Amino acid sequence: MFKNQMHLQFSSLSQNEAFARSVAGAFFSQLNPTLEQLTDVRTAVSEAVTNAIIHGYRNREGLVTLEGYINGSSAKFIIRDYGIGIEDVALARQPFYTSHPELERSGMGFTVMETFMDEVEVESSPGKGTAVTLEKTLRREAQ
Ligand code: ATP
Ligand code: MG
Repeated sequence: MFKNQMHLQFSSLSQNEAFARSVAGAFFSQLNPTLEQLTDVRTAVSEAVTNAIIHGYRNREGLVTLEGYINGSSAKFIIRDYGIGIEDVALARQPFYTSHPELERSGMGFTVMETFMDEVEVESSPGKGTAVTLEKTLRREAQ
């Protein structure tokens, strides 16, 4: 079974949202996804990275890591920050919940991740940071 992995760490700067999206897309492309599947992964990873930068670090300096794993026809991405963490993960995952309505955020980031990926796992400790795991499996008929 084909396996591959990559680790990347970058500064919590908004310029790196597009960078992380491109890296995740290039890595995922090894599975020969459809354009739709590729867009799903790029979008979901981008939402998690944006959250790490604007919520985890509140736009202050910090490091974000992006790990990618391919295992057969499945891809997994883990996006980590070492920022403020999330007090109530279940609440944060609710559609339309945002802690920053004044920033005109819609509170749909986690919902987008859940819609586009097969599995979304959030582990977070207040004051320590957050890890979001996103998984997608390509089924044969979908390719
Ligand atoms: P949108 O993504 O639609 O612009 P949003 O970022 O507020 O708005 P979600 O991405 O669904 O919405 O996140 C919901 C809430 O979860 C955020 O408002 C924030 O309070 C919290 N959150 C998400 N990711 C993190 C993180 N990495 N660190 C700390 N808090 C987070
Ligand atoms: Mg968001």
